[in-house]
Amino acid sequence: MWIKCECQHCGGHLEFGREHVGVVVDCPHCGQPTPLIVPPPPPQVPRITEIFGQRVKMYPQIQGYLLELRDRCLLTERVPGGVMKELAELAPASVGSREALLALIQQRWPRLLLSEDYRKRKRSGERQMRRIRGEGEFAPPVPVPEIPARGMGEADATPKQLRFLRNLGVRDEALLGRLGKAQAGFLIDYALAYRAGEGM
Ligand SMILES: [Zn+2]
Repeated sequence: MWIKCECQHCGGHLEFGREHVGVVVDCPHCGQPTPLIVPPPPPQVPRITEIFGQRVKMYPQIQGYLLELRDRCLLTERVPGGVMKELAELAPASVGSREALLALIQQRWPRLLLSEDYRKRKRSGERQMRRIRGEGEFAPPVPVPEIPARGMGEADATPKQLRFLRNLGVRDEALLGRLGKAQAGFLIDYALAYRAGEGM
C-alpha cells in the first residue's frame, strides 16, 4: 500500500512505501528537502454523492463540484481526502451556462477558482514527475547485495516496486523479473540506504 503526502514547500504530490515514513527526501518537483509523512485521516463525513446519488459535474477551473438535482443545484468544495463540503445552493436559473457559473463563483467565492498560474505550476510539476519516473538512468547503478531467498507463496513484486527500484538504480532486469514482494521491499530498503550513504 503506497502512502501519499505533499511536499512541505511546493505542495507537490509524493508517493512512498510505509517503510519510508519519516525519511527526508529531496522533492522531485522543487528539489527542496521534505519529510515523507502520513497525512492525518480525513474527517469522517459521508461523501456527498452517497447522500444524493445524483448527477455531478466537475469543472477543472474550480476546486469544487456542481451537483445537479431535480430542482436545485448545489455547489460543493473539494477538500483533501475526496470529501466534499457543501458550500451553497444555487437556483438552476442562476447557473445556466458554464460561463455564468464561473462568473458567479468569481463574484462570491473567488478562493474556489484556480488561478491560471496555479494550474501551470501543477502541470509542470506533473510533467517533471513523469520525466523522472520514465527516465531509466535517473540514478547511477546500485550494486545488488545478497538477497534473502524468496518465501514460499511470496507474491511477485508489484510494478510500482519495480519502477521504484529501477529509479533507484537497480539495473539487473533478470533479477527484477523474478523478484518477490518481500524481496523487493528488502532491496528498496537496501538501495535507499545505499543512495543515502553516497556523497556523505
Ligand atoms: Zn516540492
